[in-house]
Amino acid sequence: MNYDRILIRYGEISTKGRNRNKFVEKLRKSVKIALAPFPKIKVEASRDRMYVLLNGENGIEIIEKLQTIFGIQSFSPAIKVARDVESLKQAALQLIQNLYKEGQTFKVTTKRSDKTYELDTDGVNQTIGAHLLKNVSGIKVDVKNPNINLRVEIRKEAIYLSCETIQGAGGLPIGSSGKAMLMLSGGIDSPVAGYMAMKRGVEIEAVHFFSPPFTSERSKEKVIDLTKKLAEIYGSITLHIVPFTAIQQAIREQIPENYSMTTTRRMMLRITDEIRKNREGLAIITGESLGQVASQTIESMYAINEVTNTPVLRPLITMDKTDIIKVAQDIDTLEISNRPFEDCCTIFVPASPKTKPKREKVNHYESFFDFEPMIQEAVQEIETLVIKPDIEKQSEFNALF
Ligand code: ATP
Ligand code: MG
Repeated sequence: MNYDRILIRYGEISTKGRNRNKFVEKLRKSVKIALAPFPKIKVEASRDRMYVLLNGENGIEIIEKLQTIFGIQSFSPAIKVARDVESLKQAALQLIQNLYKEGQTFKVTTKRSDKTYELDTDGVNQTIGAHLLKNVSGIKVDVKNPNINLRVEIRKEAIYLSCETIQGAGGLPIGSSGKAMLMLSGGIDSPVAGYMAMKRGVEIEAVHFFSPPFTSERSKEKVIDLTKKLAEIYGSITLHIVPFTAIQQAIREQIPENYSMTTTRRMMLRITDEIRKNREGLAIITGESLGQVASQTIESMYAINEVTNTPVLRPLITMDKTDIIKVAQDIDTLEISNRPFEDCCTIFVPASPKTKPKREKVNHYESFFDFEPMIQEAVQEIETLVIKPDIEKQSEFNALF
């Protein structure tokens, strides 16, 4: 007997009280997007569980996909069985005969959400256990540390059998925490920040500042490739590419060199906030980590953040670079970020940027020039792309089916 469905457990979202329906709907959407390449599957969702009915589709590949979906605590390949005791015994035996290897031990763990079932929990454990001991030669019981833990779930509509529990990605389903704009450079940090925000349920759109001819098409490609990676999680991500050359040149002419970095960041934040308004986002995400570079001291953040009161989320704020790199490795963005490229900021970076800029000073310097029309023009000329992923992952779960 083969597994015919995958049972999905929600974890954290099941604690969300009256928001639960919304969370389940968002998760169902994530599952549908991730499983779009498998047209025959069917998704059944209830308040505390979701089932993906395989209908003959490849369970191994589906498991690979499910592991990347935020909001799933764990899942198990499972079989649906009719509620009579004979069917249950027969299905349990077939499943264990398929999985059992010589010398292995087992136990039966029954959960009864339908208390009206003819056998109680111990009754099911004993009936199934005895049936397996009688019919699978050599198998032994081990209740502490079994090789096979046969889970029997007795529900109103049917009984479900499963043996493996696979860890999900955790987090919250994307979209359940609203939408935010991710300021995405070609560096290591911002893709990691985007990933971490997505994990907490934020739907992101990416914003990239591009300064041709000082930054090349190759650096744009790099940002597109990073966006593709992040898009693997949710099917597609909108990327806004902002022409930034004119503003950077104006900054170079108008602002004393040691404050040019501070003003550059302020302009980036103002533009991102404009885009956010147009796209109905509620926050901005950056890859800043406290003290990492001159623009990321707490004084710099105080001076830069003055231009908006939109929440600026900084998922990496307390992380060390080595830990950020580890995550970048895990999510496969490190290699792309490490490609040599010119960032618009590194091109124009002053020799000695202020590490402790003052709000009064930066406001004073900016007061001699009206940046607003340039900001509006940059927003007008944004190139907006919808980026889709382009790779299929290899499967590692052949053993399960
Ligand atoms: P990263 O590794 O993400 O590039 P960083 O350590 O190089 O970060 P900065 O260059 O100071 O740090 O950038 C801080 C944050 O500002 C970035 O994480 C990103 O969110 C944003 N940012 C910087 N440059 C750009 C850009 N060209 N386009 C969009 N956002 C940018
Ligand atoms: Mg950078």
